[in-house]
Amino acid sequence: MTAHKPTFAVDAMLGNLARKLRLLGYDTRYDSKVEDAELIKIGEKQRRIIVTKDEALTRGAEKVGVQTVLIRGNDEVEQIYQVATKVGLSNFTIDTSSSRCVVCNGKISPIEKIRILGKVPEGIYERQEKFWVCSDCKKIYWEGTHFEKLQEFAEKINQRLK
Ligand SMILES: [Zn+2]
Repeated sequence: MTAHKPTFAVDAMLGNLARKLRLLGYDTRYDSKVEDAELIKIGEKQRRIIVTKDEALTRGAEKVGVQTVLIRGNDEVEQIYQVATKVGLSNFTIDTSSSRCVVCNGKISPIEKIRILGKVPEGIYERQEKFWVCSDCKKIYWEGTHFEKLQEFAEKINQRLK
């Protein structure tokens, strides 16, 4: 096991899982049109763990020394659980300051409220105090009502890991 946070390359059919890994703060490559051979190359060059449902792909990747996680089933808690047990992850939490952009995997960082005036719906601007922005695609984030649901999601995985 390496000490630094693992990074992932997620197969085309697992877009929801890729978004969840980003929200949980993991650097996750995802492209809905990626070919198997290209995914393996990305895993090899960038030392990313390949996450897929395709058993043949895991065999191809492991042949060239790329670590993989074979996902079974469609339940998202179960899927992250499978990643966590294979890679050795625990204590999941949604921490906006360490989340990755769900759209492009960019790093997000806090931004002064005044600077996003007019860029988010008015009601959101009034209710929220803290905002973050993606350094790459400039998408703006805030901890809305979905945030609690995400925390519950992280907690469900933690419970499953106990
Ligand atoms: Zn982004």
